[in-house]
Amino acid sequence: MDSTLVKKDLYVNGKWVEAKSYKDLYAPYSQEVLAEVPEASEEEVDQAVQSAKRASTKLRKMPAHERAYILENIAKLMEDRSEEAAQIIAKEAAKPIQTARGEVARTIQTYKFAAEEAKRIGGETISLDAAPGGENRMAYTVREPIGVVAAITPFNFPMNLVAHKVGPAIAAGNPVVLKPAEQTPLSSFFLAELAEEAGLPAGGLNVVTGEGSIVGEALVTDGRINAVTFTGSPEVGTGIRNKAGLKKVTLELGSNSGVIVDEGVDLDKVVPRAVQGAFAYQGQVCISLQRIYVHEQIYDAFVEKFLEETKKLVIGDPLSEDTNVSSMISKKDVERSIDWLREAVEDGAEIAYGGVAEGTTLHPTVVKNAGLHTKVSCQEVFAPIVSINKVSSVEEGIKCLNHSKYGLQAGVYTNDIHKGLDAVDALEVGGVLINDIPTFRVDHMPYGGVKQSGTGREGLKYAVEEMTEMKLVILNRN
Ligand code: NAD
Repeated sequence: MDSTLVKKDLYVNGKWVEAKSYKDLYAPYSQEVLAEVPEASEEEVDQAVQSAKRASTKLRKMPAHERAYILENIAKLMEDRSEEAAQIIAKEAAKPIQTARGEVARTIQTYKFAAEEAKRIGGETISLDAAPGGENRMAYTVREPIGVVAAITPFNFPMNLVAHKVGPAIAAGNPVVLKPAEQTPLSSFFLAELAEEAGLPAGGLNVVTGEGSIVGEALVTDGRINAVTFTGSPEVGTGIRNKAGLKKVTLELGSNSGVIVDEGVDLDKVVPRAVQGAFAYQGQVCISLQRIYVHEQIYDAFVEKFLEETKKLVIGDPLSEDTNVSSMISKKDVERSIDWLREAVEDGAEIAYGGVAEGTTLHPTVVKNAGLHTKVSCQEVFAPIVSINKVSSVEEGIKCLNHSKYGLQAGVYTNDIHKGLDAVDALEVGGVLINDIPTFRVDHMPYGGVKQSGTGREGLKYAVEEMTEMKLVILNRN
């Protein structure tokens, strides 16, 4: 069955359930209708939560090896249908097909890592006799499933960021109600097919699509939900934090990530990597390389080489094998980007390349010397726009990078380990990459931000911690 050209129903309690209301889903690049997808009502969300709640007991009691087996099966089934999965992503997200295939390969890894984590959820023993009165008592901790998890996900990695929530939730023994982004629901329906075939009990995964303000809010405010795991924009994340009450909330939010390039580094290595970090998936990646601070000694050479590499990028249809850069997720986002570019130019920045839009596609754009307070610098641009700026030292670069309300990941290229380690100390981010761009991620590493980039960490082991509760056991031998 071609999963992309059909009417999709809600997936609740292991069944495909007809919704009261549907909406056409358009491909961002071709504007063709890909499918009719449900717009769930609060009532329909309620049924999904009920179904997850019922599945809770079953999943809680399921042995770790069985949970691992289901996750391994999901990985295997996705491997068998990997090209279909990549086509779904390419069409609904306008992600160039080669990049979409990369996302599918990573998603498979994510489920495999989740299967491994299911088998090693443990605790620690605690020496109670370290305190007077604790003698002859032994203590240990266990980690228990947290309960029903609401997973709310963004458009930009519709398979893998869903896997980063569904994988650890199942690994930990929790049922999930998944609310994918409006723009990219098909990847989640595809996952539901795989999960069912993989042997996940009914209610273990429920998929409810529709408006964030209706479906998302209904989940966030539902008293039966024990944890909300959200990836998306800081604005929506902050609203969720305010409305979730005492539920555990994990927030993976935005950033305006940057890199410092010190004098003396090998530009043949650094520049192609930086171009990739800036323009992969049209810059719509939470750790896209948005700001580059280059030492004045090599600034001109860096810019020249950067432009040379950028000119090689092929712009076009996401389904074409050669395409590097395609459509943005919406026309509105193209218009916003153009506005932000205009503001930067009025402030004295120079557009060295690009700045041109065709329909929903914005050409890769290189800005020189964007002021720290301009939106292309201090806001999350989430578009194929990068600014390259001159600094006199790594130290100045650090100051510029820290001039941000965000703090996800940052990179520093330098041949001097002391400068690299000083940057590790000083950078206000969740992860520092020495001699790499901030756009690096493999799926088992701890991943998350500080400041307005979020709270909590993903990466399978760390997400499992977020989705379990610690329980203390004390044995009294007195
Ligand atoms: P978004 O915040 O617009 O939407 C994310 C999800 O939230 C969608 O499913 C949406 O329907 C839902 N939502 C919207 N309003 C809601 C509400 N009131 N209550 C509950 N849910 C609601 O984000 P997006 O445009 O899909 O994704 C882009 C953003 O995601 C960027 O800011 C990007 O940096 C961020 N992101 C972060 C990471 C990370 O790991 N830190 C990864 C990818 C994307």
